[in-house]
Amino acid sequence: MDFQNTEQRVKELRNLLNQYGYEYYVLDKPSVPDAEYDRIMQELLKWEETYPQLRTEDSPTQRVGGAVLDMFEKVQHRVPMLSLGNAFNEQDLRDFDRRIRQAVGDKISYVCELKIDGLAVSLRYEEGLFVQGATRGDGTIGEDITNNLKTIKSMPLRLTENVSIEVRGEAFMPKRSFEMLNEARKERGEELFANPRNAAAGSLRQLDPKIAAARRLDVFLYGIGNPEAIGADSHSGGLDYLDQLGFKTNKERRRCATIDDVLEFIQGWTEKRPQLPYEIDGIVIKVDSLDQQAELGTTAKSPRWAIAYKFPAEEVITTLLDIELSVGRTGVITPTAILEPVKVAGTTVQRASLHNEDLIREKDIKIGDKVVIKKAGDIIPEVVNVLADQRTGEEVDFYMPTHCPECESELVRLDGEVALRCINPKCPAQIREGLIHFVSRDAMNIEGLGEKVISQLFAEKLISDVADIYKLTREQLMELERMGEKSVSNLLQAIEASKDNSLEKLLFGLGIRLVGAKAAKTLAQQFETMERLASTSKEELIAINEIGDKMADSIVSFFEQEEAKELIQELVAAGVNMDYKGTKPVSAEESDSIFAGKTVVLTGKLEQLKRNEAKEKIEALGGNVAGSVSKKTHLVVAGADAGSKLTKAQELGIEVWDEERLIAELNK
Ligand code: NAD
Repeated sequence: MDFQNTEQRVKELRNLLNQYGYEYYVLDKPSVPDAEYDRIMQELLKWEETYPQLRTEDSPTQRVGGAVLDMFEKVQHRVPMLSLGNAFNEQDLRDFDRRIRQAVGDKISYVCELKIDGLAVSLRYEEGLFVQGATRGDGTIGEDITNNLKTIKSMPLRLTENVSIEVRGEAFMPKRSFEMLNEARKERGEELFANPRNAAAGSLRQLDPKIAAARRLDVFLYGIGNPEAIGADSHSGGLDYLDQLGFKTNKERRRCATIDDVLEFIQGWTEKRPQLPYEIDGIVIKVDSLDQQAELGTTAKSPRWAIAYKFPAEEVITTLLDIELSVGRTGVITPTAILEPVKVAGTTVQRASLHNEDLIREKDIKIGDKVVIKKAGDIIPEVVNVLADQRTGEEVDFYMPTHCPECESELVRLDGEVALRCINPKCPAQIREGLIHFVSRDAMNIEGLGEKVISQLFAEKLISDVADIYKLTREQLMELERMGEKSVSNLLQAIEASKDNSLEKLLFGLGIRLVGAKAAKTLAQQFETMERLASTSKEELIAINEIGDKMADSIVSFFEQEEAKELIQELVAAGVNMDYKGTKPVSAEESDSIFAGKTVVLTGKLEQLKRNEAKEKIEALGGNVAGSVSKKTHLVVAGADAGSKLTKAQELGIEVWDEERLIAELNK
């Protein structure tokens, strides 16, 4: 390419990177995969290296992170929060090693850490007390997200020592929380998050900390802003010190003496990565000695003593054969891509949800297209983009239907929703999905009644609502395909047993809009009987901490329906339990127990009580069970093989009981 063309290309690349960066950092809504962004960035870097006169101060290659939003107070970082240089292969790492050795000699050791795919945060503690938390922002100025960070349970609000320290780490959303969040958003017809990183970033930049609290975020700390202040002489020593202060650091770190050891560590995690409960996108390699770090220094964008190795993206190309539609329990119509089977990250993928019509338009997906597939969070297959330049002209546009594919009633878009819905309450697909939900594990948990059996029973018109499940006879069940004497007996027994479930399971099973398993539990605890809940008012409902306006409306209108009243009557007649059977948490004032108002930490292996059981019992007596030991802990119960929590309790002089003592006190 000649100079003029290169100049043009460089402009193009910058514009693209600026656009992608804005979507990613500011909107938390990337439109291309990270690998694509990285590819373009590498190309721009290459041109800028060849023609240094083309490098500008405002080039994306010179920037750390993104813009700072006006919504939050700004925080000036005392020590800039930098990004990291990238390595994509063995050669890049060997080059990095060579540069380091040239600069500081051969006496080197590295620390390898997992590169958690979240967003960088900085936490400031004064005299051991958490005072401020911020995003990285543009590296110099970040956003004050103190209140949102406080909702992260594993983050200590007070340290074990009264030190003033600034620590850095990665806030992230575990894979499981991510799946649950997107599942719930889908139910509500809301837009889905592209990946756990964006979900975490979006959650921490909520103006309402309650939303952040509901998102179940976590944080690993990996560095100290002012390491000299604490007298450590190595990065690894600093991390050990963070552990000691009560921070959560990632334990999967290793000190490596040579770059070959580093490569071996990387190889190991390339394979084990899918098993982690959170996402990592690479391995960070840091020079351990702080003196050497100081000698190496930093560039404007990143330290010279560290590098991030990025895993190659597991993306594959396949053909989109068709788009299928399904009707969910709440009437949402979901288009699903049917794919030419292909292996991605260890499993064969042949379907990928396309979520809604907007997404199909946005990605310009046509039937017959060659598409790029990856697994979001290494779990859920996703169509990343279309290879439009490989079209033959045979591809066909896809349009969402105007009518329900099952009941043919007209589809609607409710206010502000991207999803199309069938709002016919008699839609057979919705009824069938509702029945499947009713028997599912978190609901009535009827083993042997899976999707297939329910679908058959429904198709044969043996059940049309959940009360009918309790009217099924042995003869009817024997008629079904693949049902023998034994399985029918087991099934009847499971149905019978489900009648005894505690109220929350039934409530969740009824599928009241917006009432998830957790809300169902809260409602059951508060109202104790179906009757009381059914006659409650909106005011009474929103007075409960976890119940919002919309959910309250939904609950009230559910119980106002004649059909719902009749259904509950039928279930009562069938002998289904309508009462809460768990323990009711008692407020500290109401309890005169030794546990009232106390914060208790359970650690080690309990032999006689299950952990959950112990927790419920303590809470029932007005106590509060916490996950980590701090100065606020009143009591630690240590079972067998108790580890660091016990040590910490002893250091802090907190009262420690064994399990015997706990049981004795619980029984008093
Ligand atoms: P980075 O992701 O390349 O690496 C730096 C970050 O790694 C740190 O700031 C920190 O947050 C994190 N990190 C995780 N674990 C760490 C550990 N143990 N020690 C130190 N740091 C650790 O850099 P970046 O500036 O945050 O983001 C740039 C990347 O973001 C790009 O490479 C690209 O993949 C992605 N991006 C994507 C788009 C898109 O449109 N898809 C747009 C912009 C950026």
